[in-house]
Amino acid sequence: MTLMNTEEELLSRVPRGLYIDGEWIQTSSTLAVEDPSTGEQLAEVADATADDARAALDAAANAQERWAATAPRERGTILQRAYEEITARTDELAVLMTLEMGKPVAESRAEIAYAADFFRWFAGEAVRIDGRYGLAPNGSSRLLVTKHPVGPCLLITPWNFPMAMGTRKIGPAIAAGCTMVVKPAQQTPLSMLALTDVLERAGLPAGVLNVITSSSASRVMGPLIADPRARKLSFTGSTEVGRKLVEQSAQNLLRLSMELGGNAPFLVFEDADIDQAVEGAMLAKMRNGGEACTAANRFYVHERVIAEFAAKLSVRMAGLKVGRGTEPGVEVGPLIAEVERGKVHELVSDAISAGATATTGGRPIDGPGWFYEPTVLTDVADNARVLHAEIFGPVAPLRSFSSEDEAVAHANATEYGLVAYVYTNDVRRALRLGDRLEVGMLGLNQGIVSNAAAPFGGAKHSGFGREGGREGIEEYLTTRYMAIAL
Ligand code: NAP
Repeated sequence: MTLMNTEEELLSRVPRGLYIDGEWIQTSSTLAVEDPSTGEQLAEVADATADDARAALDAAANAQERWAATAPRERGTILQRAYEEITARTDELAVLMTLEMGKPVAESRAEIAYAADFFRWFAGEAVRIDGRYGLAPNGSSRLLVTKHPVGPCLLITPWNFPMAMGTRKIGPAIAAGCTMVVKPAQQTPLSMLALTDVLERAGLPAGVLNVITSSSASRVMGPLIADPRARKLSFTGSTEVGRKLVEQSAQNLLRLSMELGGNAPFLVFEDADIDQAVEGAMLAKMRNGGEACTAANRFYVHERVIAEFAAKLSVRMAGLKVGRGTEPGVEVGPLIAEVERGKVHELVSDAISAGATATTGGRPIDGPGWFYEPTVLTDVADNARVLHAEIFGPVAPLRSFSSEDEAVAHANATEYGLVAYVYTNDVRRALRLGDRLEVGMLGLNQGIVSNAAAPFGGAKHSGFGREGGREGIEEYLTTRYMAIAL
């Protein structure tokens, strides 16, 4: 399939190169970016070496003191300008994101609005960094507590939300007065390069933001994690890689934020509005084609309502239009890569061989691109791997429960603890579950929790640290206290 002229033109406008100290630097080798809806090459971007990465940290370290001394209003104004430019360019940025990541353009637009919102939110937070002044209990001295930027940050982002996972880190880092080196995922570097261009136009000084694209994350980031000039690492990605990065950071005692994998339970109680629960399930499961850390991964439904829920969910899933994300009316795009599609199908096959029934879907779709049928599995055995692994695809496994205690036990029986969804009209039950579910976030009668004003983050092996909300900027600040004798 050949690209449309408008798509070619759009790709040609994305700056290429590494962005170091305010300059676009070309490299001798390049890294190919693929369109997951065709498997064909879309573009080539720079492939950084370890020396390039060091140059990026040199720039961040050199700019740190000057940047920390800027007026908070100046930092907030840059973020506000970037918010406005992203919003004005939503259409082109959305198509670009769809080309490299695959999601339907309508979903890319939604991600861009969400991504931009972090800049708007942190533009406000930049001017609200405060401290306190008080008297020591024994009256002998004054305590002055102030907040300061933590220092140069290393920010690593995944491919599934190529822009929002960046702005959620870059926004608070800029607001707090930190400089940074950003490494986007190799499958989706174009959205980050376009975002870099936006920030440059918004007036971000040279050296504050440095962006390196690379075919080997460990080659470029390993030495930076060990470099004593780096003060913080914020990572969004898999639990497996997160664990390795925590270990690597130990030597240098980096401040850490870890936004890792999920295995979200979606609980439907007998008193829930089933039609609303099905709509919520569609959002929680199918946003981003199921390739979200917040995706509902396991559906536990009360035995009295599971037949109705399964039937209605199957009809909705079967009716989804699958196709290239740039085509009109498409609701589900391809998975990111052939190997990822293979993993999804293995989980489905394993569940079926353990007794589950696919009421709709259950197979990869033939033809170019990495498409998979929206799938509902019923009667899924407790030991089926699909209930324990992150599916990252359009597959909804269902299992019944008969009591609240049983539902809670299932929900908590996982190493992960990012988010849970609960559908019930019993307010006391809802509040009880708020206490009992071991998660960082809970969607009550709604299938989406992401919001720039809320503290996003997980418990257990879903990581630690929070992005967004009033908590988000704290991750980029360090506390200093002066003891004062008058
Ligand atoms: P991933 O394989 O862990 O990769 C994430 C990022 O880390 C990429 O930029 C990757 O670079 C880089 N990376 C990989 N190995 C590295 C290493 N040894 N040193 C330094 N960097 C390294 O995850 P993914 O497949 O891109 O993303 C999917 C995962 O992210 C899922 O588990 C999902 O749940 C999680 N996620 C979590 C959240 C959250 O907020 N909790 C949000 C979105 C996604 P390359 O691209 O070069 O491999």
